Amino acid sequence: MTFSLHGQAVSGGIAIGRAHLVSHANLEVAQYQLRERDVAGELARFDKAVEVAGAELNALRGEASVPGAPAELSAFVDLHAMILADPALTDGVRVLIRERRCNAEWAMVQQMQQVVDQFDEFEDAYLRERKQDIVQVVERVLKVLQGKARKLARRKTAAIDDELIVVANDLSPADTIQFKNLKIGGFVTDLGGATSHTAIVARSLAIPAVVGMQHARSLIQDDDLLIVDGTRGVLIVDPDIGVLQEYRLRRSALALERSKLKRLVAGRSQTLDGEDVFLHANIELPQDAERAKEVGADGVGLYRTEFLFMNRDELPDEDEQFEAYRSVVRVMGDRPVTIRTLDIGADKEARALRNRAGNQAAPNPALGLRAIRFCLAEPQLFLVQLRAILRASHFGKIRLLIPMLAHATEIEQTLALVELAKLQLREARQKFDAVAIGGMIEIPAAALSLGPFLRRLNFLSIGTNDLIQYTLAIDRTDGSVAHLYDPLHPAVLKLISQTIQGAQRVGMPVAVCGEMAGDPKLTKLLLGMGLREFSMHPAQLLEVKQQVMMSDATQLAVRVAKLLKSDEPEKISEQLDRL
Ligand code: PEP
Ligand code: MG
Repeated sequence: MTFSLHGQAVSGGIAIGRAHLVSHANLEVAQYQLRERDVAGELARFDKAVEVAGAELNALRGEASVPGAPAELSAFVDLHAMILADPALTDGVRVLIRERRCNAEWAMVQQMQQVVDQFDEFEDAYLRERKQDIVQVVERVLKVLQGKARKLARRKTAAIDDELIVVANDLSPADTIQFKNLKIGGFVTDLGGATSHTAIVARSLAIPAVVGMQHARSLIQDDDLLIVDGTRGVLIVDPDIGVLQEYRLRRSALALERSKLKRLVAGRSQTLDGEDVFLHANIELPQDAERAKEVGADGVGLYRTEFLFMNRDELPDEDEQFEAYRSVVRVMGDRPVTIRTLDIGADKEARALRNRAGNQAAPNPALGLRAIRFCLAEPQLFLVQLRAILRASHFGKIRLLIPMLAHATEIEQTLALVELAKLQLREARQKFDAVAIGGMIEIPAAALSLGPFLRRLNFLSIGTNDLIQYTLAIDRTDGSVAHLYDPLHPAVLKLISQTIQGAQRVGMPVAVCGEMAGDPKLTKLLLGMGLREFSMHPAQLLEVKQQVMMSDATQLAVRVAKLLKSDEPEKISEQLDRL
């Protein structure tokens, strides 16, 4: 039966493919007592489900051995097969069915809980984390028991629409970044806000995504045919042939438009009245630098290094970080690479840092010990990163960017630590070159008291995602207040334009690296505020360049100055439309 669901559009484009449910085994399962005479049948039903789940893993093992498949895939398949074959899990379930006469699903969840509780006691963080794998294996068996087994045969024949669409209750940024190594066509989640880091990663992957769907996870079944319209925030389940054809056409039209934009790669990023505008790329992983270069980015304006720290049990050491940073610098050649220091905390979690300062479940993580606050509380860890970044500066043009600064003392402490890192490198006879140091303006207090930033730093970069979150008191990850997350709120516009003007008055370079910089509908507004440096996901760069090339900066300055005088939302959006 066809139906559609609506949510927050977070990453544009159209994906057509089969649903892949990511679930939680703790979800409720039916619980009932068996009659004595049904016990044998239930045991057989359970054994059959284990057998089917094992066959699925075997089939997956085949897919994992295809050349080019990520190595992690085959490692996880092996581990899951091992867990499934382990009597510690399955024997306990059989006992519960036989002796307590629990139905198989109920027995399975109880046994899982018992095993997982034992894992919580382990000292070793790696072993503790393996409980996730047990949960996933149990989910696989539960799906078979509940008749939602992966329909392997059908998948094999679904050649045309073979994209995989992940359907989840929620995805963390750490989950989503892993899609870079897997072939995921798109995703939808029940929770989440439009500028959460999960959404940002989706845009960087350039895959259609919709969040805040509320009931997708419970209404959709594995292998359902789905259309994700990431531009309009719509999900269509089991579409009829007419709708499917229309969306296929739209998908081809979009692909055509994208390929036309490629013609702009070589063109100069300049307004009609001759103002040069620098377009930089935001990247999450070193491999993203290639894409930045392909679209002709003038440099990397924001390298979110925290993704190097996620999905692993050990922290990357100085050499590993150095190699990662140097690889980006090498790809970018003589173009500048802006490396942001670790911005961990809030929605970005790294399990290797879980037991560090303040990282125990903070009562309000967005206002807690995140980003530079965390780094200053953990100077040894911060120094490792600073040394790695400085060492990479010997191989190209690096700018060091500090997130979440608000206080003059934080600036001073950071600068002192950079000096200490340099001293340590000199003592170790390690080479490094001059590095410009900049601060992110993403806390209203920073935008309202720029003095120390202008006096002590070399450049500014406005992080509009957090600036909006903190100005409007809207949790950027919370779908229930997403409708209030408004980049065009007069207070937000004032803070951005004041920061640009403040920097320009003293001749300091200033960029915008939040999501506003990549939205082509806002390019003229930012140009009119005087902005000449934008940083965004590579996928958005050419569309923004097209806007730049159609703009007259002198005219825009006059119109935007008028727009900024208004504090009425309707007037602002009316004037924005007229730009
Ligand atoms: C921002 O806050 O605008 C920003 C660019 O940083 P992040 O999205 O990583 O918090
Ligand atoms: Mg930020």
